[in-house]
Amino acid sequence: MKIAFVDLKAQYLSIKDEIDAAVADVIDHTAFIGGEQVRLFEEEFAAFCDVKHALGVGNGTDALELALSACGIGRGDEVITVANTFAATAEAIVSQGAHPVLVDSDPRTYNIDVGKIEECITERTRAIMPVHLYGQPADMDPILELTRRHNLIVIEDAAQAHGARYKGRVAGTMGDVACFSFYPGKNLGAYGDAGAVVTNSEEIASKVALLRNHGASEKYMHEVVGRNSRLDGIQAAVLRVKLRHLRAWNAARRERADWYNELLADLDVVTPYEPEWSEAVYHLYVIRVAQRDLVRQRLQEVGIATGIHYPIPLHLQPAFRYLGYKESDFETTEAYAGEILSLPMYAELTREQVEGIVGELERVLDGLR
Ligand SMILES: *Cc1c(COP(=O)(O)O)cnc(C)c1O
Repeated sequence: MKIAFVDLKAQYLSIKDEIDAAVADVIDHTAFIGGEQVRLFEEEFAAFCDVKHALGVGNGTDALELALSACGIGRGDEVITVANTFAATAEAIVSQGAHPVLVDSDPRTYNIDVGKIEECITERTRAIMPVHLYGQPADMDPILELTRRHNLIVIEDAAQAHGARYKGRVAGTMGDVACFSFYPGKNLGAYGDAGAVVTNSEEIASKVALLRNHGASEKYMHEVVGRNSRLDGIQAAVLRVKLRHLRAWNAARRERADWYNELLADLDVVTPYEPEWSEAVYHLYVIRVAQRDLVRQRLQEVGIATGIHYPIPLHLQPAFRYLGYKESDFETTEAYAGEILSLPMYAELTREQVEGIVGELERVLDGLR
C-alpha cells in the first residue's frame, strides 16, 4: 500500500482536458496578468461565496496583509487570533506593525476558544481574526456579538475553508472581510501561489484593489503606497475550472470523513467533532492519538503518509518568542500539539484506501498496546 497525504496528480488526471485547454487558452491570448480569466474568476468566486466582491491576489498571506491594511490596522494596534494556526495568520498581523494577541483553542473543535476572547480585549484591540481551521468554521455568533459590543473589526482567515458553512452562512461572509488561499493543496488550489480577499464592503474592496496594484487607480496614477500582489491569468483559468468541481469535491471530502468516523469508531483515537451548526469541508481530517509520533512513524513505514497541523503552537515558535508567551500559557493547544494527526484526505481517496489506512492504524495501535 502506498497512500500519499495529498494526491494532486490524481485530481489533475480527473480534469486534465479542461485544465490543459484553459491554460493553453491563456497562453494563446498572452493574458498573463489581469484580463478576462481573472475578472471572470473573481465574479464566479464571489458568487460561490455569496459575497459582493472577490479580489484575486498573489497568495493567502498577502490576502491577510491586504485585508488588515485596508481595514487601517497598523502600528500600535492589537489583533486577537488563535495559537493553533498556520504561522501566516500571525505573520500577516506583524507585517502591518500590529501586535498579535493569542487565544487558546477549543478542546472539541480546535478553533479559537470563544469563551477566552473577551478577557484579551484592551483599548488597543482593533480586530479579531478567527481561523476556520481544518475546514471547520469557528463559532462565529459569539465572536460577532463581542465585536459589535466592543466595536471591533472581524477578519476571517478562511484559507482552509472554501465552501464551509456556519448555520447555513458561508465561511468568509460573516466578518467584515475574509481571506482565502489557493495554495495547491487547499480545497480550491491553483497550480502555483494564489489567494483572494472577499468582502461585502465597497470601501474595503476598493482599498484592496488599490493596494494590490501599487496603489494605482489607473496606470501610473498612484493614490497610495501599495505593492504588487496580483492573481495571474493562468492561475485564474485553473481556478475557474476547479471551482466548477469544488462543491462535488467538498461533498466527497465529507463522505470520506464519514467513512473514517465509522471505521475509526472502535479504535482508541478521538475523531473530529462537528457541532450541529457546522458544515465542515475537511481540508484536513485530524484525529488525536496517544504515542502520536510512533504511530505516525509506523504508518510511514507501511507507505501511509500523514501530517501534523501544527506540531508547534505559534506562541512556542522562535519567531514569536518576542510576544512574551511561555509554555503552559495555552493548555489545550499545547496538550493537543503532541496528539493530533492528520490522515490522508482528498476527494479521490477510495473506500478501499480508507479501509486500508484504518486497518493499518488498528494494527499499529494493537502493536503498541
Ligand atoms: C494556507 C494558509 C495561509 C496562507 O496562505 P498562502 O497562500 O500559503 O500564503 C494562511 N492561513 C491559513 C490558516 C492557511 O492554512
